[in-house]
Amino acid sequence: MNNFESLGLSKQLLRSVAEEGYETPTPVQSQSIPPLLSGRDVLGVAQTGTGKTAAFALPVLQVLSRSKPQSKRHIRALVLSPTRELAAQIHERFSAYSEHLDLRHDVIFGGVSQKPQVRKLQRGLDILVATPGRLLDLINQRHVDIRKVEFFVLDEADRMLDMGFIRDLNKILDILPQRRQNLLFSATMPKSIADLAESFLNNAVRVDVSPKELTVDLIEQKIMFVRKSDKRSLLVNIIKEEQVNRAIVFTRTKHGANRLVKQLDQSRIDAAAIHGNKSQGARTKALADFKKGHISILVATDIASRGIDVEGVTHVFNYDLPNDPESYVHRIGRTARAGKSGVAYGFCDDTESGYLISIQRLIGYEIPIDEDHEFHFVRAIPKPGQKPGKVRNNNSSRNRSKSNQNRQQNAKPNSRNRRHRSNQRNSNQSRSNNNSSRRNNHSRSNNNSSRRNNQSRPNNNSSRRKSHSRRSRN
Ligand code: AMP
Repeated sequence: MNNFESLGLSKQLLRSVAEEGYETPTPVQSQSIPPLLSGRDVLGVAQTGTGKTAAFALPVLQVLSRSKPQSKRHIRALVLSPTRELAAQIHERFSAYSEHLDLRHDVIFGGVSQKPQVRKLQRGLDILVATPGRLLDLINQRHVDIRKVEFFVLDEADRMLDMGFIRDLNKILDILPQRRQNLLFSATMPKSIADLAESFLNNAVRVDVSPKELTVDLIEQKIMFVRKSDKRSLLVNIIKEEQVNRAIVFTRTKHGANRLVKQLDQSRIDAAAIHGNKSQGARTKALADFKKGHISILVATDIASRGIDVEGVTHVFNYDLPNDPESYVHRIGRTARAGKSGVAYGFCDDTESGYLISIQRLIGYEIPIDEDHEFHFVRAIPKPGQKPGKVRNNNSSRNRSKSNQNRQQNAKPNSRNRRHRSNQRNSNQSRSNNNSSRRNNHSRSNNNSSRRNNQSRPNNNSSRRKSHSRRSRN
């Protein structure tokens, strides 16, 4: 039977799970909890949004609550997380699940004063959630002792390696005791992670919840072809028309995130940025404001956003398409969480069409195209036979200069300008319609799931988008 009782969880944990409103275990939970409770190591291929935190937190809590700590000095379970946000979130989940247990847990990460963290460590902890850098700092200062850890959890192992934590990780692994139970979670399983898993897991049970299953059903995906310089206006239009009040917008760079927040502010849209250059205080505040609904848009770069779990995110915008296709899957997974539906828009400019090809190869199908918006840009559509990856610059700069020329010709500083632009748009649109057969050819040549193109017909609400003029918004 697929219920929490059948997984062997204690009464206290079943109570917490019920209080959280969980009715049935997710696949990663039903596959991981029983082997973890029976002392096995687990290798989990799963990303955030699958319920993986409970998959490891519940068994850790249950195993630790069976015995008393031998000393106050030693940590009994160590959970390593690559980012501060994810660490804070895991800790928050431990708090919820351990409500009816007598176990002490806390979180440490860099970017904030270590003093309060040291005080908590001195009082004694059973479970410590940590980012690698701060953990090593505090180990070196002898504020934390991990030599008696019974349970070691490595979360988001792939991101941990991407962020260059391998040396820190190896140092930590060297200090941990030989006899311990291990759990490694990773959204992807490249060779580097498989090797890492091999190096410290012991006859692990493998649990695989592939990202593909996650993306298809609940998330409505759309691709919009647009000039780089029109992305902001397109974003503002959609936010206003669809009355978006909880969305995450992904940009490629930190600078781009900051700039977009300012631009959204000019359009009277409350937004905040979250990225690695922001102080921990600013990141925490942005996330808290977003969770409370004080701001409607969180503009994020990949690293800072990884693992962010906010309920009720209705939209994800890939304002810049990611060059790493797996990031696309992670990004859109911020919406449609815990069984809810969501929309993921991808804005593809002419330099990003190769990224779109890589993404579609990874997910195994074509993302429906929404071309019924005033900024539809035919040149951004992938060419037949185009290779995945970055589009070479000379091509894109030529396009840019052509488009600048067009703009200069069209720039008339009077009220007719708007109509003119709109006429130009209409002609663009009809060009794009003429081009649709080319696009469909491309679809067929690039992917055998061209059936999905049928879904790409424009929806009605996007035609409303045309009524917003660029000028009236500024
Ligand atoms: P995670 O993948 O651990 O980040 O979890 C994603 C979200 O799913 C969190 O908001 C959890 O509270 C929620 N969640 C976890 N397990 C379940 C479950 N069995 N039923 C419903 N929601 C869940």
